[in-house]
Amino acid sequence: MSPNDFRQVLLEHQRPTREMIVAPGDPGCEPITKISGIPWWPADVPRPTCNHGHAMSFMAQFLLSDVPPLESHDNSLVSFHYCQQCAYEGNMPIGWNPKVGNTPGYDVSVCDLISEKQPDLLGIIAEVVIDPQSVTFRDSMDAPGYEDTMYSLDLHSIPEDYPQGADDFDENIYPGIIHVAKRKIGGWPTWVQHPGLPEIQDQERLHFLAQLDWWLCNRATWCSGGYAYLFLISSGTKILRCELVLQTT
Ligand SMILES: [Zn+2]
Repeated sequence: MSPNDFRQVLLEHQRPTREMIVAPGDPGCEPITKISGIPWWPADVPRPTCNHGHAMSFMAQFLLSDVPPLESHDNSLVSFHYCQQCAYEGNMPIGWNPKVGNTPGYDVSVCDLISEKQPDLLGIIAEVVIDPQSVTFRDSMDAPGYEDTMYSLDLHSIPEDYPQGADDFDENIYPGIIHVAKRKIGGWPTWVQHPGLPEIQDQERLHFLAQLDWWLCNRATWCSGGYAYLFLISSGTKILRCELVLQTT
């Protein structure tokens, strides 16, 4: 395949993405997209616990109207919790796994109608694993990353000079083509192993929600060169559930 044909294929598969530009500090208990700190969690729902009864660490929350393909789902917040205690004890929750299905050491919940609900006043109830960050966005178009280009696109050959990029976080993967490899919402996952999408049923649709990179999560157990990937599963206009996938190098 010629470089120009290859570039054209990547351009056709672009999706809108928003890199999360982070700044240290917790903006507080607000229903906004942010990393760690005090979660906005509805007062009428208990905080998530793992199957060993541990309180889980709050990792991040995402306002769905911030996520490029899901803007119409306004007034909903996705919260990601992970059991650091289980990780210390060797029962490391590994995210969605085709062999075991859901593992109970993490929680990715969707709370809807947030403008009609009050947050609980419990603050931080488990170890803070990621330094709290406020988030702003840098919008761009996102081409598939290396693993999806190799294994998910139906390409018969690729140019010898692919990929380019000076380091793991260099987004310039080919002339004129960007793949954002840092923390982001929407777009394409930056897989570090073979693409590992959660399985869904026939009538369901899978959406890539966000990824958190190892640089941001340097104390998280999965973040030795890896990522946490969050997915949302819908059917029609209804949000059914969310799922976590972890990969490390
Ligand atoms: Zn636990």
